[in-house]
Amino acid sequence: MFGAAKHPEKTIMIDPVSRRRTFAIISHPDAGKTTLTEKLLLFGGAIQLAGEVKAKRNRRATRSDWMNIEAERGISVMTSVMTFEYADCVFNLLDTPGHEDFSEDTYRTLSAVDSAIMVIDAAKGIEARTLKLFEVCRLRDIPIVTFINKLDRESRDPFELLDEIENTLALDLAPVTWPIGRGRSFAGTYDLRANTIRELDEQTEGTPVSGAQDEKVGALLPDGDREQMLEELELAQVGCKPFDLQGFREGHLSPVLWGSALRNFGVRDLINLLAEIAPTPRGQPSDARFIEPHEPKMSGFVFKIQANMDPNHRDRIAFMRVVSGKLTRGMKARLSRTGKMIPLHTPQFFFAQDRSLAEEAYAGDVVGIPNHGTLRIGDTLTEGEAIVFRGVPSFAPEILRRVSLKDAMKAKKMKEALQQLAEEGVVQVFTPHDGSPALVGVVGALQLDVLVERMKTEYGLPIAFEPARFEACRWVNSDDHATLDKFMEKNRGSMAADLDGSPVFMATSAFMLNYEKDRNPDIRFTDVKDYQ
Ligand code: GDP
Repeated sequence: MFGAAKHPEKTIMIDPVSRRRTFAIISHPDAGKTTLTEKLLLFGGAIQLAGEVKAKRNRRATRSDWMNIEAERGISVMTSVMTFEYADCVFNLLDTPGHEDFSEDTYRTLSAVDSAIMVIDAAKGIEARTLKLFEVCRLRDIPIVTFINKLDRESRDPFELLDEIENTLALDLAPVTWPIGRGRSFAGTYDLRANTIRELDEQTEGTPVSGAQDEKVGALLPDGDREQMLEELELAQVGCKPFDLQGFREGHLSPVLWGSALRNFGVRDLINLLAEIAPTPRGQPSDARFIEPHEPKMSGFVFKIQANMDPNHRDRIAFMRVVSGKLTRGMKARLSRTGKMIPLHTPQFFFAQDRSLAEEAYAGDVVGIPNHGTLRIGDTLTEGEAIVFRGVPSFAPEILRRVSLKDAMKAKKMKEALQQLAEEGVVQVFTPHDGSPALVGVVGALQLDVLVERMKTEYGLPIAFEPARFEACRWVNSDDHATLDKFMEKNRGSMAADLDGSPVFMATSAFMLNYEKDRNPDIRFTDVKDYQ
């Protein structure tokens, strides 16, 4: 599938890392992310029919109860990756879950991309979820391409939309196309950089024009609106910020495209723009040094574990972003957490409908590694070097619960099950230092439903939740071991260990948490933990 086999004459020239574009789509539910994904995959030839992504999602949803949560609530609880080739580039599209409850998963997914497409509904502008996801991107200065969708419907004034986005996000916008008409009169787009126009349903590269006053432009607009819309176009040409590659790569300027995912319009502009300007794979900081993508030795980090991808096999796939070097099927990689070498017999690539063995993968690629619990979120795999990647975070849960089991005989099985699900990142598990039963923590309430479903269907354990005495928790640390030990001893009844054994302070209220913070200035209370 990859490399020389498909474009022998071209791939010899271009190095594999520079061909990679690893990105995600961020949007508010219903803005058109799924539709756009389908159309992008069509361009890459990864699927034959539009509608496939959704059809597949529905098919999958019937397979297990866990998936039914997704179907019932009409949201996606899965994060997956889709790989396709277009214009000599290999695109890795990472799907971000659509619901705010899954912010942890989303953070981790965004830790594995180099750029993002922000899809905005032209009638609605910036919506809550878009804003939240954008903030995550901003934390990492992820370059963003803005796609304003649904221009075929009644939409808001383009300048008003741009103003709103700029002001709400404090982000500079540089339209690279401009809509010709909108709603029922939406006729195509004007390429502000190339001075070409492309008509709706036309799949060519565009027709050159002399400017906004070119009669070919005017001919596309309805009589009543023509003057006003041509004026808008002229204003956009002189008044909007020009595209600036450096500003984009630094994450403070976003190029804007207009289109209709449903009508498959503007999607070609989008994918061409990604091929042209989206950053190639970046390096990644580790505890020892910064790892560059062109380094010869393979390294990567696990940002997602997904169980149940194929219910017939009950497999567990660790999604690893390759950071450097070349991953070859059959190679052995060092798992930094344990120091053990593990063989990569069956690394996989994912496509819209399929997966295939990854014979080789390069920086920027995401490979699925089937395993039975050896790999955890945040794990680093290398060709031998003892490093640990930074930047795959875990967040202090906002909800803490005690799990109660209907059948007390199964306590051991429950412990194992919780441990496995914690390793997948479904929940966090905290084991109190004083020996009392473990607590589970989640960032969003929906995760609790997923936990109940999975405990029942996968482990045969019906569970319920009881309120915990604690309402908040923070990882604690100090530069001075003795200070930390003293704090932990004094608060023994409020201390727990997370999956890695890191100490966690649990507070009965936000007030108590602040009180302890004030009283213990030498202790660091953190709500984000980088996996180590
Ligand atoms: P998601 O929730 O962001 O994945 O959104 P979907 O792709 O599922 O789209 C939500 C709804 O908007 C669906 O009914 C789509 O058919 C519709 N939709 C998506 N893109 C467009 C578009 O460009 N124009 C119009 N008119 N409808 C669209």
